[in-house]
Amino acid sequence: MFDKILIANRGEIALRVIRACREMGIGSVAVHSTADADAMHVRMADEAVCIGPPPGTDSYLSIPAIIAACEITGAQAIHPGYGFLSENANFVQIIEDHNLTFIGPTAEHIRTMGDKITAKDTMKALGVPCVPGSDGGVPTLVDAKRIGEEIGYPVIVKATAGGGGKGMKVAQTAADMESAFMTARAEGKSNFGNDEVYIEKYLTTPRHIEIQVFGDGKGRAVHLGERDCSLQRRHQKVFEEAPGPSISSEERAAIGRTCADAVAKIDYIGAGTIEFLYENGEFYFIEMNTRLQVEHPVTESIFGVDLVREQILVAAGQDMSFHQDELVINGHSIEVRINAERLPNFAPCPGKITQYHAPGGLGIRMDSALYDGYSIPPYYDSLIGKLIVHGRDRPEALARLNRALGELIVDGIDTTVPLFHALLQEPDVLSGGYNIHWLEHWLETNLGE
Ligand code: ADP
Repeated sequence: MFDKILIANRGEIALRVIRACREMGIGSVAVHSTADADAMHVRMADEAVCIGPPPGTDSYLSIPAIIAACEITGAQAIHPGYGFLSENANFVQIIEDHNLTFIGPTAEHIRTMGDKITAKDTMKALGVPCVPGSDGGVPTLVDAKRIGEEIGYPVIVKATAGGGGKGMKVAQTAADMESAFMTARAEGKSNFGNDEVYIEKYLTTPRHIEIQVFGDGKGRAVHLGERDCSLQRRHQKVFEEAPGPSISSEERAAIGRTCADAVAKIDYIGAGTIEFLYENGEFYFIEMNTRLQVEHPVTESIFGVDLVREQILVAAGQDMSFHQDELVINGHSIEVRINAERLPNFAPCPGKITQYHAPGGLGIRMDSALYDGYSIPPYYDSLIGKLIVHGRDRPEALARLNRALGELIVDGIDTTVPLFHALLQEPDVLSGGYNIHWLEHWLETNLGE
């Protein structure tokens, strides 16, 4: 086992990894920018190294600075968290070249899944059901128009290198194709340096259902059921739950087995998420994330496992501590993402926290790096906390979420908490009867978005 792990991230996810290290008796090294000198992850880690100025490109994305921090502190492994360098195959290669261990999958798997066209081809070949669409990249507008006619409108044009909701454009009819094709290409080029796009059937009322998988890198893999992340704003998740309210145990077992078998066949190591759109009882693969997800705690809650601990175990060459038949769902869990944003238009709202009080009690988990007097810097993601609740069933989890949101105090800045208070009054949220477009419509009607 490692003696010391460096966490190449910040905020709540850095704390999350530090906590797992401490429970395993492993030393932790935080890295931070000058803007984060007072951040909670710096305070909580055993050691901390400043790796650069505030912009992420000069600090949390600086591979040489992170490798140097490992050399200075003697850390043997790096946990990337999510975002930043977590899906950067080049980073993984450099870590290995320095005889360090990356806590995550291989560079090759990251590369394969990071390109959405290659990912789709790979999954198709492994027997995973995919959204109907173009076979690979679509080079010209003429091709795009022909494929649009073949598949039938509406269609979605997607940048193969896209992520975080960027590089995706819907064409409702043939008349929209030119602008959708050009915009998706331009966004792919400017955000990800790659203008290749592909086309998929645009599903009109699907749910976003993702399957958590975990592999040992030696041909054994399990699944840990699904999460329903359909409540999204601009393709970004805001409310996630497990199990999915619309998924039966038979469906879970079948799609879970398909996913676990697929990743076992490629000797996948560590945590991964296979994302699907789900409509009329069918699953359609959209992408695979080769890292820990923001919403992993809902899965941890219902299975009673620590996914970061398991990531560390397999990265150190040990076995994961569970078998498929031991993974039994207990109750229901919901996570809400609390952002430093001002409603109604979700404008970023960094600033000083004058008072912070986290909710507590049975079934409550608050993953946050906030503290009284902390100043949220303006340079990074606006996620400031995740409130995760667990109950014996969905109604109990919803009641607990309502209670916990009432206890939470974050003063000094605006947050997205009022959104969740409002959503918990909605019959469709209470019944679980929503799809990926529900929140956008609701925001339009209620906040004039
Ligand atoms: P990203 O990598 O940017 O997260 P994804 O491919 O995972 O992109 O898609 C993100 C979201 O976009 C999905 O959860 C869904 O809401 C929407 N989406 C993607 N593909 C389709 C599709 N074929 N039909 C309808 N909605 C889609």
